[in-house]
Amino acid sequence: MRSLVLIGHGSHLNGESAGAVYRYAELLRERGLYDEVVEGYWKEEPSLRQVLRTVRSTDVTVIPMFISEGYFTETVIPRELGLGHQGPVPPEGVGRVLGGKTVRYTLPYGVHPAMSDVILARAREALPDLNPEDTALIVLGHGTTRNQNSNRVVYENAGRLRESGHFAEVHALFLDEDPRVGTWPEAVKASRVVVVPFFASEGWHTLETIPEDMGLTGQVTEFADTPNAPQTVYYAAPVGTHPDVAEVVLQLAQEARGASGAGGDEDRTHAQAWEAFLALARRGTRIGEALITPQAGMFELRHALDEGRHAADLQTLVTVEGLRDHTRRDEGGHHRPVHTLRNLPRGWRAILTEAELPRAVHNLYPAVVEESYAHHTHNLRATPWPTTARRQTGIYTKVIRATPEQVEEVARDVCSRCLKTRLWAGERLGSTVFSGVPGAIPCAEACTLLVAEVREEVSGKRGQTGHGHDH
Ligand code: SF4
Repeated sequence: MRSLVLIGHGSHLNGESAGAVYRYAELLRERGLYDEVVEGYWKEEPSLRQVLRTVRSTDVTVIPMFISEGYFTETVIPRELGLGHQGPVPPEGVGRVLGGKTVRYTLPYGVHPAMSDVILARAREALPDLNPEDTALIVLGHGTTRNQNSNRVVYENAGRLRESGHFAEVHALFLDEDPRVGTWPEAVKASRVVVVPFFASEGWHTLETIPEDMGLTGQVTEFADTPNAPQTVYYAAPVGTHPDVAEVVLQLAQEARGASGAGGDEDRTHAQAWEAFLALARRGTRIGEALITPQAGMFELRHALDEGRHAADLQTLVTVEGLRDHTRRDEGGHHRPVHTLRNLPRGWRAILTEAELPRAVHNLYPAVVEESYAHHTHNLRATPWPTTARRQTGIYTKVIRATPEQVEEVARDVCSRCLKTRLWAGERLGSTVFSGVPGAIPCAEACTLLVAEVREEVSGKRGQTGHGHDH
């Protein structure tokens, strides 16, 4: 049995941020090479602290879904997963045994050599008849002074594609460092130029900064006044959203596993938690704000406050993904980074099989079954606030300065809207969903939303209109 975990950044503010990781997870599930594909996030749930607990097998490969190495892949993710590793990840990855699971943490997908094929695929989409007679390629990176590895990857891809012989010229240019993208008219001689942004997704840079710096007016732009005019520039979509990235992820995962044979076993604690939960569900149960009712060999899920409403008055959802996407926003359309906040939208019902139920409940309340079961069996260890505060790095180091009163002030606001009980603040929880109390959910450790709000409080910026931080 083998589990694949994809790690994304996610966002407290914007529901689209996690979308790319969801899509790749779906593509990889369809391929069926892993018994499960699980997503974990820095700013959403399941969080990096929880995600390994939600995994079914004892053989786990973790892939950071980032385009380049940097602060998140080298500092935040290894720290939060508890890998006991900081700094550059070696090419063979980092292997650890954590809680009885063999965990392999790899480099981010963006540094894999197979990304050159993805760049070529993007170039071909923009210019199908590209050829070595008259076509130049520009691999366009962000460039940054903070992490030299991010530029190295762009140079390496440019080098591989130069050697491939598909292009007359190949250039590596950058937005934020030399050689800059604006210098392309001097650098490129060929009459046709394909530009492939080495970026994770469409965004401000790919939609605005790059076209502006290059003078592009659309996907195809004619230039009559460059030193080597006439020239036509073909602007490709960013590499990070290409479906072939799923293949790169699989290659990376296979390489990380190396010669390690047949995979692991089913994780016993995980299996016990879900068996106990399914036994409850078969009789009909509630978890958080959701009501689960067995119905003619299937299960119906709906908001508990919609109990008794006629099915015809509710929107019927029939897939796990449909339910997930519908419940990622509250009724006002706002993103729900913390699923146990009491804002599950009403007005829907989902009809699912027993095989689908665990993933549906996982999406509705990530890690809640596993953590509630651990608490029920006295195996959930709480992490007190000072420990969480000390662990923070980067812009969050300042939360260590928060007084207990400030933390309480923020928690009164944020956590009072949440179903969870703060074990990390010394609160006690005598029951759980496993003892028949659907809203009794343990919070073992302050979530990243609370940490971010405490940071705002310490900075004196909390509650300011339009203020929000998402790094
Ligand atoms: Fe909920 Fe507060 Fe725990 Fe975050 S820290 S999950 S808001 S109880």
